Amino acid sequence: MKSLSEPKSYRIKSFGCQMNVYDGERMAELLGAQGMSAAPEGEDADLVVLNTCHIREKAAEKVYSDIGRLRRDDGSAPLIAVAGCVAQAEGEEIMARSPDVRMVVGPQAYHRLPAMIEKARAGERVTDTDMPANAKFGVLPTRTKRAPSAFLTVQEGCDKFCTYCVVPYTRGAEISRPFADLVEEAQKLVDAGAREITLLGQNVNAWDGEDDKGRAIGLDGLIRALAAMPDLKRIRYTTSHPNDMSDALIAAHGEVGKLMPYLHLPVQSGNNRVLQAMNRSHSAESYIALIERFRAARPDIAISGDFIVGFPGETDAEFEDTLKMVDTIRYAAAFSFKYSPRPGTPAATMADQIAKEVMDERLQRLQAALQRDSLSFNQASVGRTCEVLVERKGRKPGQWLGKTPWLQSAWFEGDAAIGDLVQVELLAAGPNSLEARVV
Ligand code: SAM
Ligand code: SF4
Repeated sequence: MKSLSEPKSYRIKSFGCQMNVYDGERMAELLGAQGMSAAPEGEDADLVVLNTCHIREKAAEKVYSDIGRLRRDDGSAPLIAVAGCVAQAEGEEIMARSPDVRMVVGPQAYHRLPAMIEKARAGERVTDTDMPANAKFGVLPTRTKRAPSAFLTVQEGCDKFCTYCVVPYTRGAEISRPFADLVEEAQKLVDAGAREITLLGQNVNAWDGEDDKGRAIGLDGLIRALAAMPDLKRIRYTTSHPNDMSDALIAAHGEVGKLMPYLHLPVQSGNNRVLQAMNRSHSAESYIALIERFRAARPDIAISGDFIVGFPGETDAEFEDTLKMVDTIRYAAAFSFKYSPRPGTPAATMADQIAKEVMDERLQRLQAALQRDSLSFNQASVGRTCEVLVERKGRKPGQWLGKTPWLQSAWFEGDAAIGDLVQVELLAAGPNSLEARVV
């Protein structure tokens, strides 16, 4: 292959979780610092990065169909890099299956993309799936992302080894980023216009560190430190694990006004045998007790969760326990998935894999219950007065879209600008958004 000209434009397509969105933003900043610019919508890019997700089969398959679609009408292809968790888990397979792919780069190695691009231009096919924890953060350029709501990865990796999940294999062991680095990055985001920061981690509530006085702190301490930044108005965090929840974090929900009344706490199943087979190491009862403590600390808190239906061996009666959990908690929002066997995880080779039709039927019933509850949560908000953080313009002139403290989408008409916190009354509720008026 002859050597390729220097790429001038890039496109990054991120799939899956918010941590991938964050990584995609940092890759964009890195490529920007190399003098490249984002390709305008609808135009070909010289370099395409597919920032992939391996959490379910469908997510991984998408990558291969996307690679195929990148070939242009004249038969040429851009420089293609596959990043993210599929790259980490299936790097060799991708290289073998897709000759157009020039680079495979894991989630802990993308800071080395510029050097990889050089090699790829010279005709090499380059793979870098090393996992040096925390190394990338010291090398990436400072934050320039401008948006009213920003993500900040504070913790990476997972030591929990739920039997269905690939994350411990693709993202490595749990690590916490240092306090000082996080305060600095948060300040950069705020200086660039962020009014809300969502702290991210696969187990974000496992974050720990030392504050500027050398005192050991947990996520609550980090939240309290960030809350002292005058121009930062809202703080959120996701995703938490029930076993890493501390009394201090629960208390912070009642004490830190900038900490939004929203908790994403995945449960996966409402049945204790299934939870044990999943290696979740919490029970249905301990999960419910934990939610009750959050509600005592912050009575209006919106609870959201993740669910898996059709885990190997799940009986009808065991699935009914998940529906009972939904009836007990009354989630404001939720994500629900059919179990997907992931190669290399213990559950993939368990006996009694559940038939697709059974999973389909269970998922339908679960989602009907979850939708019922998210609609009634939204309906119960009607009449409330609250602030909406304006994130973008609506389709009609004078219309604005944003988020309530409970992470509901809300729209209103009136004078505003992106990044404003506008006091509104919530007027009417649908399953996915609320109509509001400025007060
Ligand atoms: N660490 C978080 C936790 O434990 O809840 C979230 C990690 S994972 C990226 C997000 C969600 O994907 C999980 O909560 C789970 O519901 C779902 N998930 C993970 N592995 C899955 C699998 N093999 N099949 C179906 N859903 C899966
Ligand atoms: Fe996956 Fe479980 Fe870790 Fe969440 S806690 S990332 S589901 S292994």
